[in-house]
Amino acid sequence: MSTIKEPSFRESVDLMFNRAVALMDLPPGLEEKIRVCNATYTVRFGVRLRGQIQTFTGYRSVHSEHMEPVKGGIRFAPGVNQDEVEALAALMTYKCALVDAPFGGSKGGLCIDPRDYDEHELELITRRFAYELAKRDLIHPSQNVPAPDMGTSEREMAWIADQYARMNTTDINAKACVTGKPLNAGGIAGRVEATGRGVQYALQEFFRHEEDKAKAGLSGTLDGKRVIVQGLGNVGYHAAKFLSEEDGCKIVGVIERDGGLLDENGLDIEDLRAWISKHDGVDGYPSGRYIKDGAKYLEEDCDILIPAALEGVINLSNAERIQAKLIIEAANGPITAGGDEILRKKGTVIIPDMYANAGGVTVSYFEWVKNLSHIRFGRMQRRQEEARHQLVVDQLEALSESMGKSWSLDPAFKEKYLKGAGELELVRSGLDDTMRTAYQDMREVWHGREDVTDLRTAAYLVSIGKVAGSYRAKGL
Ligand code: NAD
Repeated sequence: MSTIKEPSFRESVDLMFNRAVALMDLPPGLEEKIRVCNATYTVRFGVRLRGQIQTFTGYRSVHSEHMEPVKGGIRFAPGVNQDEVEALAALMTYKCALVDAPFGGSKGGLCIDPRDYDEHELELITRRFAYELAKRDLIHPSQNVPAPDMGTSEREMAWIADQYARMNTTDINAKACVTGKPLNAGGIAGRVEATGRGVQYALQEFFRHEEDKAKAGLSGTLDGKRVIVQGLGNVGYHAAKFLSEEDGCKIVGVIERDGGLLDENGLDIEDLRAWISKHDGVDGYPSGRYIKDGAKYLEEDCDILIPAALEGVINLSNAERIQAKLIIEAANGPITAGGDEILRKKGTVIIPDMYANAGGVTVSYFEWVKNLSHIRFGRMQRRQEEARHQLVVDQLEALSESMGKSWSLDPAFKEKYLKGAGELELVRSGLDDTMRTAYQDMREVWHGREDVTDLRTAAYLVSIGKVAGSYRAKGL
């Protein structure tokens, strides 16, 4: 057992930052400037609900404005507090830098359990919170652009966008004030699935590198790998779905709010998700072994562990017992600094949050660009691309005809080749490229420097280097 005391979430992020920055040659003043959170706004507002006024507390933190707008999700959860929001804002700074999304880091949160309110009440609360933030430019297309996070989804983003538009009737770029909106309210294809899709692309990239797999004691492809997922919400559900349906992974465990399920034959994610929506939990699901203390299943034997729910779930109390060879942090901050130290000593490979869940902000970046350019990606090129491919196919078919039809194009190939890229294909391609490039940047440092022994430190080195470069260029 480690002797260090369990720090808070923000202290954990700072400790990890400090570990990395100690390996860099930054002037102490600049180091401090990057680490600290620039500002946190706390708001308390009242909403009349069920005949009486209820008061809510919300936060919006801006960690770093080396690039603007700043960006980061809005979380609705009962435990939201300033420490958590500031930690998440800091992670956003490093995440955006790592994946070259041109934003500073921010995050927001509202202390509320969304399950306690009906849809109409939630709309009133969300609009009022958005009003409070927008009137201080803490929601603004060129200043601060929120997105969904735990407890919020496209629905809340549509309310926020509409609220901002009502307050700024002449702003032609109003839709770019928030991302993660539904398609019919200025959203982009592929945003809902983006974070889970990014987790899949991250794992695919990891598995392309023999040396990296060897460090985790893994080999082969993703096919048949045994995976445990904590949290079957937006991120966890999409990651589990794509990994099982497209890469052949076996989801042998799922941990949810009310308990965990373990099934060596693999759980059917679509079916389980439908069960959870209907029964508000995994209890009673007809297959798998259920336990009430679901977190115990984090310690079960598996190849890949995907914590995709809360922060701090792997910590001093259980890190020693974690058996997974590879952990990919789909959630933000699921491993505390103390837990991280224990796992590093054990040789567990951790793909860090700032990289692993960057798919969300990456596609949010595409959505923001789409909103500012006022045109759907692919709208100009798609048919022209198809027409050019058709020319090649016509030519080949004429050739085949002239040779007495001694060969022909495979119809499946022809169909695939002819199809021009629409918005969804372009978004996935941009996301895949982002995840591959950022991984390669991290692994270059991981393998290239003797004093760097883990991917998290490598990720911090890459991102802090970029943030420092921006501050230097600005003359700070
Ligand atoms: P979500 O609200 O859609 O899902 C969270 C899931 O976790 C729910 O299914 C919930 O029931 C489950 N859960 C809650 N408490 C739990 C517990 N004690 N044990 C097990 N499961 C529990 O949230 P999300 O958007 O999927 O976010 C999950 C994590 O991913 C958060 O850390 C968030 O910051 C991070 N993240 C989300 C996005 C995004 O685009 N949504 C992007 C980057 C990072």
